[in-house]
Amino acid sequence: MKPLLRIAVQKKGRLAEGSLDLLERAGLGITPAPGALTCRARGLPVELLFVRDDDIAALVMRGVCDLGIAGENTLREEALQAPGSTPLQTVRALGFSRCTLKFAAPANGSVCSVQDLQDKRIATSYPAITAAFLEENGVTAQCVTLQGAVEIAPALGIADAICDLVSSGATLAANGLEAFATVMQSQAVLVRSPKPWDEAKEALLARLLRRMDGVIASRATKYIMLNAPKDAIDEITALLPGADAPTLMPLAGRNDQMAVHAVCRETIFWDTLEALEARGAHAILVLPIEKMMG
Ligand code: ATP
Ligand code: ZN
Repeated sequence: MKPLLRIAVQKKGRLAEGSLDLLERAGLGITPAPGALTCRARGLPVELLFVRDDDIAALVMRGVCDLGIAGENTLREEALQAPGSTPLQTVRALGFSRCTLKFAAPANGSVCSVQDLQDKRIATSYPAITAAFLEENGVTAQCVTLQGAVEIAPALGIADAICDLVSSGATLAANGLEAFATVMQSQAVLVRSPKPWDEAKEALLARLLRRMDGVIASRATKYIMLNAPKDAIDEITALLPGADAPTLMPLAGRNDQMAVHAVCRETIFWDTLEALEARGAHAILVLPIEKMMG
């Protein structure tokens, strides 16, 4: 059967793994041959196109692909570089490939604020976003566009500062740089082409989205089980993040204790576990949830 939906995903890089993992968990059934540029899914009438992340916006915009998974940063850069074109519609924020576009400059140097960038040279892979931010802040500077290795530009003497993607900040520190301003936060998003679709295509997207929502919801969601003293149950259930109605069960041979089971729809941090323990909870188990629906 002819594929109904064609999706552009990154071939290799920081978006690729998360994109394939999400689609696979949504039941696509994808086993790309090494080096393949396309792959037909076994589970749904979908074809994947493996491309560079920078090409995804244009492929979806032109309708070559119906959907694409790209970073918000590249989508904004593309949109700013093609003013007047219909912006792509973001159908879902996907929660992976999170990063922040930041300004950074050599630590203890003369540039440590946005105002200090006046008349300086800024290395970046995102010249349009950088220029728009500088304009909003009334600063005039020169952008030096580099596709990669932006962090070494100051050491090479070709820039005074950089505007680059940061996740942990380790790469900045390794290059003697310090971030001083945030331009934008980014994550992977699913975008669709602005062209109108027929009913079958819309129905398949709705089905795919329902499954993706299940995968995304189950990522942060955990099943928590613990035993707790009866007199602390209210306090303990109030500590469970995003749990609406916990199940309370008696414990055999322990009249002063109860078992609490709950689906937590928000991340459970170590701090929460420590707080639970401090209120007498014990035998605390946090389990992943594989799929969720309804
Ligand atoms: P390509 O060969 O596809 O052009 P690339 O080198 O431009 O790849 P990657 O480094 O793989 O791109 O980054 C792809 C996207 O992943 C970025 O546009 C951004 O949205 C996201 N990303 C970049 N850096 C990080 C990071 N440190 N942590 C998480 N996500 C990131
Ligand atoms: Zn790229």
